[in-house]
Amino acid sequence: MTDLSPALKYLLNELEVQLQQALKELKRLRQAVHQLEEENRRLRKIFWAATGEEGRWQQLKLLYEEGYHICPPFFAQERSSEGCLFCLALLEREGE
Ligand SMILES: [Zn+2]
Repeated sequence: MTDLSPALKYLLNELEVQLQQALKELKRLRQAVHQLEEENRRLRKIFWAATGEEGRWQQLKLLYEEGYHICPPFFAQERSSEGCLFCLALLEREGE
């Protein structure tokens, strides 16, 4: 590897940089997947722990309080700190 042309050296350096970036991105994605799996596990637990109509309402409320939508259009997506009108409408119907 002593007499590589400058152009080839440059290309190899570029390749190395790109590989490092790809590795970094892979690490980030792995972490994101891990977080999503954890979140999914938590949400499943909340759901499947529910028994009966009353229990399901409780779980939905809990899910809402945990910061997730329970309304059909955005179900299980993270909610901003402001309330969601669809979710609130659903919660209001609870007693009916
Ligand atoms: Zn909502």
